[in-house]
Amino acid sequence: MPRRVHTDGAFNQPPPYIDVDLFTSDRVLQDAVAANGGGGEAEELSAFGRRWGTAEMFDLGWQANEHPPVLDGAVVRFDPAYHRLLTESIAAGLHVSNWQADAKVAARPAQVSRAARFFMAAQIETGHLCPVTMTRAAIAALALEPALVEWIMPKVWSRDYDPSFRPLREKAGVTLGMGMTEKQGGTDVRANTTTALPIGDGYTITGHKWFMSAPMCDAFLILAQAPGGLTCFLMPRFRPDGAVNGLHFQRLKDKLGNRSNASSEVEFHDAFGWRVGEEAKGVSTILQMVQLTRLDCAVASAGLMRMALAQAIHHVGHRKVFQKRLVEQSMMRSVLAEMALNVEAATALVMRLCRSFDLAGTDPREAARARLLTPAVKYWVCKTAPALVYEAMECLGGNGYVEDSLMPRLYREAPVNAIWEGAGNVMCLDVLRVFKREAPAARDALASLAHDAAGLPGVGEAVGFIEAVVSADVAESNARAAAERLAVLAAAAALQVGAPPMIAELFSQTRLAARHHAMFGTVVPAAKDTEAILQRALSV
Ligand SMILES: Cc1cc2nc3c(=O)[nH]c(=O)nc-3n(C[C@H](O)[C@H](O)[C@H](O)COP(=O)(O)OP(=O)(O)OC[C@H]3O[C@@H](n4cnc5c(N)ncnc54)[C@H](O)[C@@H]3O)c2cc1C
Repeated sequence: MPRRVHTDGAFNQPPPYIDVDLFTSDRVLQDAVAANGGGGEAEELSAFGRRWGTAEMFDLGWQANEHPPVLDGAVVRFDPAYHRLLTESIAAGLHVSNWQADAKVAARPAQVSRAARFFMAAQIETGHLCPVTMTRAAIAALALEPALVEWIMPKVWSRDYDPSFRPLREKAGVTLGMGMTEKQGGTDVRANTTTALPIGDGYTITGHKWFMSAPMCDAFLILAQAPGGLTCFLMPRFRPDGAVNGLHFQRLKDKLGNRSNASSEVEFHDAFGWRVGEEAKGVSTILQMVQLTRLDCAVASAGLMRMALAQAIHHVGHRKVFQKRLVEQSMMRSVLAEMALNVEAATALVMRLCRSFDLAGTDPREAARARLLTPAVKYWVCKTAPALVYEAMECLGGNGYVEDSLMPRLYREAPVNAIWEGAGNVMCLDVLRVFKREAPAARDALASLAHDAAGLPGVGEAVGFIEAVVSADVAESNARAAAERLAVLAAAAALQVGAPPMIAELFSQTRLAARHHAMFGTVVPAAKDTEAILQRALSV
């Protein structure tokens, strides 16, 4: 249970927000899932939402973050709560379910239903989701190596979490991490200096990684300079002969948030690795993978925003100031309604993007939409989250600033999704790159967004603006404005399809047609609309 002060005898202190169904208490999520083909899974999603909303799961989140991992020689020791969270996530298939969906069932909403679960899990604890998301994304790259797939995939497929430190072949289930970032180059992976030389069935790898999270994963996708150029490898914790592989962890990072998750600095001393994809194709090999981790960053940030909003609405529904509950005070209602509008947009946006991933295999237009929108959505949702979490914290007054509430953890957690897997500017450059290299498909995707959002305020202007920026010689200096407009347009389109008309209209009017104020609470919907927005967010 949240580490709350004892309120026995005290009055006017809200009860803990626990034992909630994270699905059925969230009308916005239900609508977004249904609009994107996942309505048939409502019962299963509610069962997941009930389980993850229990006091026990909130408590595991607390414990895992209050007792961060420690480096102990070749291993990292985690709090048992971290392992229990992973046991639950992996049993629910968050690391594989989109790959296991029956391909014969046309357009099965596998990404959408997995994302709905990921969104709910992220509300409770995000650190443990790092190896979960990396495992599911790594599968996209591993697919290039059928020989590896044949014996490793059954282990990855497993829903049994096995934290033991043993060779891959001996384990019931495995998790996969990734190491791209070096001291001299994170964004610029071509600056990587780690080297790989062919030897026998694999390569021997020497160098370092400046960030390598979830170091107790069983194997890592690594970029290193092979004789032919930058190449992707799978580096196991144990060599094929059963000896411990040459990964030497230097230390764990002391991070702002994401504290349940370990992020290491590591050196490779003649470490063994299998090549994944062709030599010199390292960047293209990891591209599919990175698209998936970026998608999960956005889904998780939308989940953080949702939990922050729920905590705020819960609090103001109980707390009285000047003899009136805060939720009845009109300025507070404006603040909450505007925050809820952004959560509506983020939720609709990520679920619609997941639908594009679901359809991408059979529909090239959806594939193009997924390619163009993933960086824009990651950019907008992940960079929107910290400000929203901060405002939600303030709704709790002093309690929001104290570790007894969940707000400090949500606040510390919020920025990382914008930084890792490509920071904000890098996402905007990627949007420009798609418009440049895949121009017809990107313009087609833009036109389909305009079609879905037709009739909403500001759509024509947004399309014109994006087209002007991406065609200009100095596109880079305006890339943030273009990426933001693109994401907001896509959100308006998603809301138009899946949310009540009033929500889509209000969002477009205040986010697309006009430049909105920096603070929440400056958009004031009609009283009945405010009521409707708050009811959709959480009944109070
Ligand atoms: C908690 C945590 C865990 C991590 N775990 C992993 C992991 O497991 N594996 C892994 O490989 N990496 C990991 N990383 C690294 C992370 O992916 C990188 O830090 C991130 O991609 C940014 O790279 P960088 O740190 O080298 O920053 P830089 O590349 O130096 O970028 C610094 C800033 O410059 C901006 N910038 C870059 N290029 C341009 C440009 N051309 N124009 C304008 N602006 C630009 C960026 O947007 C950024 O804001 C982790 C990072 C964190 C914080």
